[in-house]
Amino acid sequence: MEIYLSNMKNMSRDNQLAKLRNVIAIDGPAGAGKSTVAREVAHRMQYVYLDTGAMYRALTVRALQEPVDLTEEAALAQLAARTDIELRPGTYEDSRVRVFVDQKEVTDQLRTPEVNEAVSYVAQSPAVRHHMKVQQRQLASAGWVVAEGRDIASHVLPEAGCKIFLTASLEERARRRWEELRAAGYQVHKETVQENLRQRDRIDSERKVAPLVRVPDAYMIDSSCLTIEQVVEMVVEYCKRGGLSAIRPG
Ligand code: C5P
Repeated sequence: MEIYLSNMKNMSRDNQLAKLRNVIAIDGPAGAGKSTVAREVAHRMQYVYLDTGAMYRALTVRALQEPVDLTEEAALAQLAARTDIELRPGTYEDSRVRVFVDQKEVTDQLRTPEVNEAVSYVAQSPAVRHHMKVQQRQLASAGWVVAEGRDIASHVLPEAGCKIFLTASLEERARRRWEELRAAGYQVHKETVQENLRQRDRIDSERKVAPLVRVPDAYMIDSSCLTIEQVVEMVVEYCKRGGLSAIRPG
């Protein structure tokens, strides 16, 4: 995978740990609003947004193209090892992260119903998770990163200075995802979307490696009845309490 942030090779261990403290980790189930909130917090605090779900989705796009048997650990491990995934951070004008698999852009294929259905199977693979963790730690090692996913605080970046567990009711999460899909032109039933989320919640929470959990030192936010702006304000406030600088220096 191509790395767009500096890597850790030339940093002392203390320096690495100090940088990793300047990380905001946002975990939670699908549809809780993590991406929107993380993107907005990154914008407000001038941090870099790291969408770890996009990495699992990108590998899933490749797995479906080949196709690879999603229940075959060895095949998934090989696929992860030979696939190059590149995340290009958004710009001020267009905050969307662009994603490339083996130099081909797949940004518009990441959120199709097929990928939604398959991604949690790919993300169950221990080899895939190990591969992603190494890349994600490297990407975050420059500090001033908002990383969102399922296992950021518990496994990938436990050093993060601010940890958030963002959730919402299943019904509300399904409503949001259904509206997103409809806005993107997909004709799907709300019940189907809700069933897919329920299934993903189950697989993500019950898998053996790095399941979705709330770590004890994470602030819990239930966004069911909150606006994006309210959630963002809460996250920024928790970051201040955690001693994270509001604006990236330099
Ligand atoms: O956040 P998003 O819905 O894009 O994530 C897609 C899927 O990728 C999740 O349902 C989960 O299976 C997997 N994932 C993960 N660990 C992460 C991020 C995403 O297992 N850190």
